[in-house]
Amino acid sequence: MPTMTPHLLSPLDLGPFTVRNRIVMGSMHVGLEDRAADAPALAAFLGERARGGPGLIVTGGFSPNRTGRLTPHGAQFTRAVAAAHRGITDAVHEAEGRVVLQLLHAGRYAFHPLAASADAGRSPITPFRARRLTRLGAQRTIGDFARAARRAREAGYDGVEIMGSEGYLLNQFLAPVTNHRRDRFGGSAAARQALPLAVARAVREAVGPKALLSYRISLADLVPGGQEQEETLALGRALERAGVDVLSTGIGWHEARVPTIVASVPEGVFVPLTAALRAEVGIPVVASNRLHDPQLAEGILERGEADLISMARPLLADPQLPAKLAAGRARETVACISCNQACLDRVFDGKRASCLVNPRAGRETELVLRPVPPQRRRAVAVVGAGPAGCEAAITAAERGHRVTLFEQAEAIGGQFLFASRIPGKEVYARALDSWSARLEASGVDLRLGAKPSAEELSAFADVILATGVRPRELDLPVSAEVSPRVLSYAQLLSLPRERAIAEVGERVAIIGAGGIGVDVAEFLTAPDPSLTLDPPAWRARWGLAPGADGAPTTPGPREVHLLQRKPGKIGAGLGRTTGWVHRAELRHAGVIEHRGVAYLGLEPGGLRIREDGAERLLAVDTVIVCAGQESVRDLAGLEGARVHVIGGADVAAELDAVRAISQAVEVAAAL
Ligand code: NAP
Ligand code: SF4
Repeated sequence: MPTMTPHLLSPLDLGPFTVRNRIVMGSMHVGLEDRAADAPALAAFLGERARGGPGLIVTGGFSPNRTGRLTPHGAQFTRAVAAAHRGITDAVHEAEGRVVLQLLHAGRYAFHPLAASADAGRSPITPFRARRLTRLGAQRTIGDFARAARRAREAGYDGVEIMGSEGYLLNQFLAPVTNHRRDRFGGSAAARQALPLAVARAVREAVGPKALLSYRISLADLVPGGQEQEETLALGRALERAGVDVLSTGIGWHEARVPTIVASVPEGVFVPLTAALRAEVGIPVVASNRLHDPQLAEGILERGEADLISMARPLLADPQLPAKLAAGRARETVACISCNQACLDRVFDGKRASCLVNPRAGRETELVLRPVPPQRRRAVAVVGAGPAGCEAAITAAERGHRVTLFEQAEAIGGQFLFASRIPGKEVYARALDSWSARLEASGVDLRLGAKPSAEELSAFADVILATGVRPRELDLPVSAEVSPRVLSYAQLLSLPRERAIAEVGERVAIIGAGGIGVDVAEFLTAPDPSLTLDPPAWRARWGLAPGADGAPTTPGPREVHLLQRKPGKIGAGLGRTTGWVHRAELRHAGVIEHRGVAYLGLEPGGLRIREDGAERLLAVDTVIVCAGQESVRDLAGLEGARVHVIGGADVAAELDAVRAISQAVEVAAAL
């Protein structure tokens, strides 16, 4: 099948060398960078990605010195570390890939007492107060960048990328809010640019003309007191003059209170900023931030808005993405859903990154999928085609087993079907489509609307029970026949949106404020179409449209109460990088939060609760129960076949797609 993305797959001359296509695997810290002992695992991780065929790979960030480490024992590109990296560059080069090392000085984002920045002070997201770099200290830092860059070349890297965005040290020197210096590194816009430009010149000199020099430039800091667009464009021009080959674009500091990479950010919403930079410079420019859809990427290149596309998380989710595009198998790409659950959230917790939809990511040497020799191939039944069932079936079939997948509903997807209905989570539909395509490609015999009996299943050598969960029902006392209507979240989300909205009435109580309760609150209050599908409205919502000055609270036409028994913050269990966005959306929509409540019963006119020690009647028409789930394990007592129970059917209490899919692949890998 011909590729649908000819521009994305065309080579490009970057100066020192030509890359095979326009896909850049953007820098991601995966937690294998910090210890030299993990270099072989990092080599396996990057080697597998290089075999998938991106044009260029950028490593996670390595500090040029001790001060710039992200954590006390974080990655620093010392001589010893450089020696251990030969295996990494060899692994990429064996696959005919190109790889550059990212040099990242954390500045005031360092989680240790040695932190140093343009000014003395603490960032809102770190506990340590940075000291002010002296003029001599700044000069030394320039030298440290150059030395680390030279080592990168000695380790076989094709070049380096200087991290100048996301609010790290160089970005801190650039922004007025974090640079009040009055020496040669502060004062005017030109002086604030002096350190980053000196670093770029020194690194260029250190690596020589045959190495690629990429600079990650912040196109929008998204913090009060950040750089003006004119300044970033001037910086881009100056970096080109300083010898930079490629400008990779970054959006938003880590402390910014505007979402930049979560699922609800419209895809491509920041591309106009990249296009403006590209019009100013004569070197290639890389677009980034939620550019996961290859067709969207193709359009950006075709219209000349960028020269390359950074896809970081998509290559965590599917290292074979470029190869699949080239083979005309785009639908079989394992789609990243921008959940951050197994990647960024883990990294910010100091853990190794993986991927919700690809549990092998970061575990390439541990979770190995070996083809099964013909004499060991078995008949495998998988019951339930939710995320865990689909992944188990595909993995087992790709290894060579004969797999039958039974699903009692008329569609695959399980809990992901519900998630795909939530405004801001439209991307989950891509995961469903990808499972359909991969089930077909791997030869799984999919039987929809089928509920196999125990007898039928006993004919299989192995049975994987992925029967999932059912919503927990609550036994609330009902004092009269006329009470608020009670629906489970599954009943609500099974209805077409218009009907669901019409049926719930004007006043709704949601019992349970976990991930699903929060999702349901957004489902009931978000505009239609969702802001994720309406980039101008999204920009206005987050204060990015011309003339917009933030996000006023806009209570919708419906009164929505979100309740939990715990006294703590609503949504406290949500992801580190996503929870604050959901909480901001709830506030914005005027959702009324109740914590530490007890549910006393349903009465005519509402839900009786105890709150702050007093009883009250919450006047609502509908109560939606989002109080967790219970496992469905009707078939667990099967005889004859070897039975493996996975996902929500195994543990409902912590129904968690990361755990469920990981367990599915581990079980299928061992068959
Ligand atoms: P959940 O996060 O466990 O939340 C269910 C909530 O219901 C609990 O927090 C609990 O809060 C309440 N509850 C439990 N038993 C109850 C009872 N007997 N009576 C009344 N309330 C009860 O589960 P979920 O919301 O169903 O989500 C399922 C899984 O999907 C979770 O792993 C979740 O993290 C994940 N998910 C995540 C997201 C996201 O990250 N954005 C979105 C959707 C789903 P109280 O005890 O305090 O009332
Ligand atoms: Fe994408 Fe989620 Fe995987 Fe991260 S964990 S790469 S966001 S699917």
